Amino acid sequence: MSAICVYCASGPVDEQFTDLAADLGRELATTGHTVVSGGGNVSMMGALAESARAAGGRTLGIIPRGLMEREVADLGADELVVTETMRQRKQMMDDRADGFIALPGGIGTLEELFETWTAGYLGMHDKPVVLLDPFEFYTPLLSWLRDLSTRGFVSTTALERLQVCDSVPTAVALATGR
Ligand code: AMP
Repeated sequence: MSAICVYCASGPVDEQFTDLAADLGRELATTGHTVVSGGGNVSMMGALAESARAAGGRTLGIIPRGLMEREVADLGADELVVTETMRQRKQMMDDRADGFIALPGGIGTLEELFETWTAGYLGMHDKPVVLLDPFEFYTPLLSWLRDLSTRGFVSTTALERLQVCDSVPTAVALATGR
């Protein structure tokens, strides 16, 4: 079974978003996949990890020492890795995952998504990169990217490297290559 890294928000506690993260955590757990996350227990990140464990799943959290308090380190994780830097965190999250799913989030989520997506597009890894967007949260960003593509700034190959979907089971199927 694979390990899937989920990028998501560390801010909002709006149920629409935390429920989405919880649904994804549950689906990954019940399909036998390990959840790799940023190792925080706040907002969507917390909902994801807690619900994966409640459904019998395994969670791996990777958090920089300096964010342990701010992001409430997920001490309940089956494995919690504390890194010295953000770069080490991202590297380890990427290395330990077989696929990636991005949910709604802020600039941290966007940064992680763009780095993983561009690395995949440039051939630095061949792992699936999925954007799960049931609420049209990313519609403005995707329209802008399509516009950039028509103007030649973003290739169609790059756009196609990101798999966009709106359902939790589809996201898991895409990210696990099923
Ligand atoms: P946000 O989407 O801004 O709520 O952040 C979600 C997660 O991304 C949090 O765990 C942040 O610590 C993390 N994050 C913030 N900045 C970065 C970055 N430069 N690289 C990777 N992760 C980040």
